[in-house]
Amino acid sequence: MTSAPFYLSIALPVPLNKTFDYLPEPEKDMSHYQAGLRVKVNFGNRELVGLITDIHQSPSYDPAKLKPIQTLIDSKPLLSNEIYKIGQWMHEYYHQPLGECMQLLLPVLLRKGGEANITTQPYLTIHPDHKGPSEIKRAPRQVALLEHMQTSDSAGHWQKDLVEAGFTPAIIKGLTEKGFIQHHEKPSFQAINGRAQQSPLGLNPEQAEVVSIIHSQSGFQPYLLEGVTGSGKTEVYLQSIAPFIEAKQQVLILVPEIGLTPQTVQRFARRFDADILLLHSQLNDRERLDAWLLAAQHKQADRAQIIIGTRSAIFTPMPNLAAIIIDEEHDQSFKQQDGIRYHGRDVAVMRAHALNIPIILGSATPSLDSLHNALTQKYTHLRLTQRAGDAEPPKLQILNIKKQPVHHGLADELLPQIRTTLDNGHQVLVFVNRRGFAPTLYCPDCGWISECRSCDAKMTLHQKPAHLHCHHCDSKQALPKNCPSCLSNDIQPLGAGTERLESHLAYQFQQNKVIRIDRDSTQNKNAMETLLQPVHDGEPCILVGTQMLAKGHHFPKVALVIMVNVDSGFFSADFRAMEKTAQLILQVAGRAGRESIRGKAVIQTEFADHPLLHLLSEENYHALGLALLQERQEQHLPPYGFQALIRADSMQPREAEQFLHRVRELINWHKTNLNLPHINALGPLPAPMELRAGRFRSQLWVSCQNRKMLHHFMQNCLNGIYEIKGFHKVRWSLDIDPTDNL
Ligand code: ADP
Ligand code: ZN
Ligand code: ZN
Repeated sequence: MTSAPFYLSIALPVPLNKTFDYLPEPEKDMSHYQAGLRVKVNFGNRELVGLITDIHQSPSYDPAKLKPIQTLIDSKPLLSNEIYKIGQWMHEYYHQPLGECMQLLLPVLLRKGGEANITTQPYLTIHPDHKGPSEIKRAPRQVALLEHMQTSDSAGHWQKDLVEAGFTPAIIKGLTEKGFIQHHEKPSFQAINGRAQQSPLGLNPEQAEVVSIIHSQSGFQPYLLEGVTGSGKTEVYLQSIAPFIEAKQQVLILVPEIGLTPQTVQRFARRFDADILLLHSQLNDRERLDAWLLAAQHKQADRAQIIIGTRSAIFTPMPNLAAIIIDEEHDQSFKQQDGIRYHGRDVAVMRAHALNIPIILGSATPSLDSLHNALTQKYTHLRLTQRAGDAEPPKLQILNIKKQPVHHGLADELLPQIRTTLDNGHQVLVFVNRRGFAPTLYCPDCGWISECRSCDAKMTLHQKPAHLHCHHCDSKQALPKNCPSCLSNDIQPLGAGTERLESHLAYQFQQNKVIRIDRDSTQNKNAMETLLQPVHDGEPCILVGTQMLAKGHHFPKVALVIMVNVDSGFFSADFRAMEKTAQLILQVAGRAGRESIRGKAVIQTEFADHPLLHLLSEENYHALGLALLQERQEQHLPPYGFQALIRADSMQPREAEQFLHRVRELINWHKTNLNLPHINALGPLPAPMELRAGRFRSQLWVSCQNRKMLHHFMQNCLNGIYEIKGFHKVRWSLDIDPTDNL
């Protein structure tokens, strides 16, 4: 009996907005196939791994021309139904190819067709009823091994550690054969488990109220936890999730950057007797797959309970997920800015909704989007207005540098304040959002400045080691001795970056350590922790750094924070610049006075009269947020309107712009045709940095007051955009809910 022919729809990771039909392998009948299985196929002249999305009997294409797949990789789907649906949601919401969305859900090794097996290693324990050492008296090395294993605290040992400690495989084999040692295979990826060494803190009344609200509700509940820096949000997270951990359920915690928040990780580890996995950028592909598999285990005893990870950890399969936490929910790093431009926070809220579980979004400086959701009761608004324990919030002071002598980027007036702070045994943090020595090198004689050839940007002067570096395209140049334009030998740095402030402060305060924290000084693994050791030891010292210092850190001895150049965001073309600047100022200021020391934060600015800056210093972020929201409402900007941004770039001048003109025509046509007068289009416009890394960049904005209408419209335009011909060399992308205009 022959059954009717059937076809497989395959989602492939290619930038085309469709799935592709293939024939099954000739020898396999329909029972072998189901949605979610990986297959290998020939596509063009490449071999790709894709996912079956459908099995059907009506090919979209002449069946005689369809090719069979190469191989069926899986016998059961790797993605749970829940995760699979996230992929479909991303496809629909972000209007990105299904195959590319699905690929995002899989660890790299699985994307490449690898097997979904956990790596294990031999792990040895002492046999519970082993005979005494008298049995092996005549084998002193075996006795030594047995003693080594008996005297350590851990339940067992990795074989590789024993070999490293000098016990050869032959010695181990000898003891094994005599029945002293048992061999096991354990996953090599090690979870952290602090075995609940630390008990919960007694909550202050505000914290207690918040925790009791969270405990009293169940099902899908989004919470915005707006708590000033140092108000004890972490303690609220810990106590909120305790019942879930107790019940052996799973919790997912998203953080901006794990490397930067070791202390937060430690607190989770010490609080619970639960296996915690950290998913951070330094894991290799193998470790990432192992962690993914450990989170996904169906047997409760085998799986990790707490996952702490950055953005993409939101896709971790967790069969018993009970709650999601997003710490520093306003942080820009949750938005992916290339490939599939998803927002981790929004995906998380969607996931919590689909699972009917709570999600806590925590921040001292919530995004205006979340604040709006809280004010309109879409989220439950929880507030912590006071610092936990004895700490008091830092005083914000605005220092007008138009009226001050300034050297190497720092107002002279601040030097005695730094001196006093150090003399009191406290620490000083100087924040400057530019690494390198100076943002520009220039020639006072002819006005030459160090511009990058491939970008509309200046090259940064670095002294350690000395060179010019473009932070946008990464190109580097030797430092010119003379002005390349007029040969003058009086070329000078303009402005100040971390290196310059570091050397200025090191010269002024020779008795104290000056520690620079930026991307250059922390390149090596553990460099950050090593550099920060004197700070944690409580030594009076000066920290100079970029926004790497703004996140998460707890510096109890910092009493004075100085912010240099934070005002560059005030006059940016990005309508979110003020929001981002305010968040940054408060995050940085929040590093001061975390414990019993009353802290002070100085904003050194050229725009001391800016009304929003005053609102921030005299009131607080919340007041500023309300003012900014009102402006947004008047201008129909997000969160009161919705946007899609189409970016295009090309090596040829004007080519990307011409492409976007075609897109604009298409948009105009659909707008009339669908009768959607409320859709607004703007552009093509040059990107704020039009030339970057040798590519000319242009953009086109589409916006609408109604989210559904915008999505309906984009859906209608999309195929037309994919079909625009004649622009092979133009790269383009669609960004739904863009968070910047770069
Ligand atoms: P946030 O995350 O809101 O900035 P943290 O959770 O880091 O604040 O808390 C700041 C400090 O206050 C930490 O040292 C923490 O141990 C302490 N803390 C938090 N809650 C309490 C409490 N209820 N009693 C005493 N100290 C607390
Ligand atoms: Zn010159
Ligand atoms: Zn460049």
